[in-house]
Amino acid sequence: MTFATLGLIEPLLRALETLGYQTPTPVQTQAIPAVLAGRDLMAAAQTGTGKTAGFALPLLQLLAMEGPKVSANSVRALILVPTRELAEQVHESVRQYAENLPLSTYAVYGGVSINPQMMKLRKGVDLLVATPGRLLDLFRQNALKFNQLQTLVLDEADRMLDLGFSEELGNIYKALPKKRQTLLFSATFSDAIRTLAGQMLNDPLSIEVSPRNVAANTVKQWVVTVDKKRKPELFVHLMRKGKWTQVLVFAKTRNGVDALVEKLQGLGINADGIHGDKPQATRQRALDRFKASEVQILVATDVAARGLDIEDLPLVVNFDLPIVAEDYIHRIGRTGRAGATGQAISLVCADEVNQLSAIEMLTRQTLTRQMEQDFEPEHRVPDTDASGQVVKKPKKPKKPKTSSGGKRNLGKWVESGDASAPEPSIKPVRKVPVFNTGPRKRKP
Ligand code: AMP
Repeated sequence: MTFATLGLIEPLLRALETLGYQTPTPVQTQAIPAVLAGRDLMAAAQTGTGKTAGFALPLLQLLAMEGPKVSANSVRALILVPTRELAEQVHESVRQYAENLPLSTYAVYGGVSINPQMMKLRKGVDLLVATPGRLLDLFRQNALKFNQLQTLVLDEADRMLDLGFSEELGNIYKALPKKRQTLLFSATFSDAIRTLAGQMLNDPLSIEVSPRNVAANTVKQWVVTVDKKRKPELFVHLMRKGKWTQVLVFAKTRNGVDALVEKLQGLGINADGIHGDKPQATRQRALDRFKASEVQILVATDVAARGLDIEDLPLVVNFDLPIVAEDYIHRIGRTGRAGATGQAISLVCADEVNQLSAIEMLTRQTLTRQMEQDFEPEHRVPDTDASGQVVKKPKKPKKPKTSSGGKRNLGKWVESGDASAPEPSIKPVRKVPVFNTGPRKRKP
């Protein structure tokens, strides 16, 4: 299979040759002909599968071959993405694919001044990449009209809902022409996503390129158990021992990111952090420097978990496990991309056992555990497995009180010290559900 046999036009083929793409990935093989044929699409595809080219290439071809010239303040194709970083990244890919086509492309997102964006939109843009909030602001200020819109792409739709954009999506939906092509991409398919798809898509073709909710199998994953307060020390120890060169680290909170970065910098380690409280320019700079290998350790909240494509990232460390189990898949998806192998290490303390259990249930695997010498936890992390059960070692049975104070017949229990005694049965204490993935606050 080649890109030419998928029906792509010569200017796109030339751009792909420049980029060194030789063979289409499975999502591209399925999506490109369907989009060219005008179908709506509902695609289950993780980041790293080449999904951006899967929708962007046929979209650009349709824009180049069909439809009127774009009018002032209008847009012909719209790609909605959950985060500013992803908007930049998707736009950069689109720009490269459109290199040889006479099409205008642009990206708009919040956290930066709106005025230059309004100026740029005056002439109209063929393809716009946008985050939902800023797009609505621009629409409400009459900087944007949707009457020429032919195609809508919802990229990382599940993440947009997780970040609380469902109201914005509803308002955008109301403003769009009813006759249009819609493509929905999501790593996971919750009921909320299926409802969204039901509203927005018309007789969609469903494609699935990797099993639902399963992490990329090119990533070697394991857990190191440790006490919470010793995590920073363990991180530095593992880093030195493993001679880590470029690591993306995920922490749960903004404070957690800042504290770890401060600790690492205090030790002379080249580290930086990104989270939702930092200005957009600072976030982008840190990311660019990390991509250019000018920063060795980038510590992030889940704002960086989705969609970011960092070439050859060898290692992801979960300093804290995510609250939402699906985020684990997105975090570790930053490594092992496009067929490369990667490693994902999670530092897990006893408090996080329910999160660990939910992740194992979601990814249908029991993660291998290790303990690091001198860092063995005082608070043991209870056993977990892919069935979603947390297994606690049973307490020693209390000696039953008898009126005489003597020993009752203990039935199957055997006096301690008897080496032939059977192991006490291990009882699952509770079933742990996958964590709620309902609306969350905007800035993680
Ligand atoms: P995505 O899943 O869209 O974020 O893409 C992941 C990475 O794979 C990006 O760096 C793309 O540039 C790259 N890529 C996408 N399609 C191909 C292809 N057919 N051949 C080689 N690399 C590709």
